[in-house]
Parts: sequence; C-alpha cells; structure tokens
Amino acid sequence: MKPIKPVFEQMNNEIQNIRKEVQVIAVTKQVGVERTKEAIDAGIRHLGENRPEGLAAKRAAIADDVQWHFIGTLQTRKVKEVINQIDFLHSLDRLSLAKEIQKRANQPIKCFVQVNVSQEESKSGLAPEETLEFIKSLEAFDKIRVVGLMTMAPNTADEETIRKVFKGLKALQLEVAAENWEHAPCTECSMGMSNDYLIAAQEGATFVRIGTALVGTESEG
Ligand SMILES: *Cc1c(COP(=O)(O)O)cnc(C)c1O
Repeated sequence: MKPIKPVFEQMNNEIQNIRKEVQVIAVTKQVGVERTKEAIDAGIRHLGENRPEGLAAKRAAIADDVQWHFIGTLQTRKVKEVINQIDFLHSLDRLSLAKEIQKRANQPIKCFVQVNVSQEESKSGLAPEETLEFIKSLEAFDKIRVVGLMTMAPNTADEETIRKVFKGLKALQLEVAAENWEHAPCTECSMGMSNDYLIAAQEGATFVRIGTALVGTESEG
C-alpha cells in the first residue's frame, strides 16, 4: 500500500487551498491498527470508525492524543459501549438514540445530526424539513451538544447532483446556527468522502471523512 504521509500532505494542501478550516478525518474502518498508527505518524489527528468493535480495537492499541469520531449508524443497545470512548458522534438521527446517550454519557458529547439531504430510501438521517424541530427538541438533553450536521452524498458520478446535496446541508446548517440555541451551536458541516471531498470543501465542509483515498483498504480490519 502507498505510504500515507505524502498522500495526506498533498490531499490536505489541496483542501486547505480551498478552505482553511477543513479538518480531515481518516476513516480507518477498513484498515488495522498498524495502518492507523501510520496515519497518526503522518500527522492526522482525527480518526473515524463505524463499528463498535473497530473502535474498541484501535482505542485499546492507540494512546496518542487524537480525536475519535463515530461515523456509522449507532444501534441504541451499543451506546453504552461506545459513547464514552468517542469525541464526536456523526450519526445522531433519532430521539431514542438521544435518550440513550443522555442516560449513558459521562459528559456532554459533541454530536452531528445526520440529515438525508438526497432523500434516498437507503440512507439514514432525518428529512431536511424535520431537522430544525428535532434539534430544538434536544434542548432537554444536557449530554448532547449539537456541533453540526452530517450527510452522505448520493451514490452517483454526477458532480452537480452531489454539489446540490452539499449546498443543501450547508444551508440547513446555517439555518440551525442562526437560531442561536445554546445546546446547538451547529457551526460544523461533516460532508465529503474519497470521491467528493473537494466538492464538499468548496461547498463549506468543515470536516471531510476520507477512507479509501487516504489510508486504503486491507483485506481484514
Ligand atoms: C466509510 C465511510 C466514509 C469513508 O468512505 P471512503 O469512500 O472510503 O472515503 C465516510 N463516511 C462514512 C459515514 C462512512 O461510512
């Protein structure tokens, strides 16, 4: 596999040239502990995992000062094992999950509310028109801090379709931020993956989540 450092440096330069405040999350769900350590040695400070098992394995092996992001669907029954092991949750999408976080978290958790901007059946997340009311209802939960919104682009090569979805998330994020809710500063936008991170940066992402194009994939991990 390609060494991570030069790939990261070039990618990060390209992104920073578009927008300075974008942070790269290395999605390590398809690689093992050694490759994850290489990412940290390359200067990456944000790591993303989408399964409790993968998170636990890396947490156990890595003591570095990095920020841990949980980016996948979180089952309610798994909250207990995950929530106090992460810095950011990118997939808050239902009230039952919020209630369980409230019950299990030892301190406030930085959460992204996941929005299904493209309205594809197969994708999780709230409908855009439900998002404001949902976030307002989270005021009652002092263990949840809504730092931003997250979305997944549709699975298409059509750049304009992808761009429209990212624009939609950005507009909604600004709308929530304008409410000035104390529990929901909503200053962040988590969008963009290996195939579309430059479009995401152009449209106002503050976090991009990159797996394949950055750390690659291993047969197991
Ligand atoms: C896997 C995954 C990514 C990274 O995908 P790549 O195409 O490998 O960059 C980003 N976000 C989420 C939610 C994912 O599950």
